[in-house]
Amino acid sequence: MNDNCPNCPRQQVQPAAEHERGDQVSHLYRCPRCGVTWSTNRVLDAYREAA
Ligand SMILES: [Zn+2]
Repeated sequence: MNDNCPNCPRQQVQPAAEHERGDQVSHLYRCPRCGVTWSTNRVLDAYREAA
């Protein structure tokens, strides 16, 4: 899942790594424009509404 850089106008940055932990999934990102790194955590249940 792509994310927007928090440090510059770059959008749709692809995750460099993905880790699943329990009911959460974390993505690590590195902006190709400014080089900043950040991570996100999402709860997997949020994606199961349509199932
Ligand atoms: Zn950036």
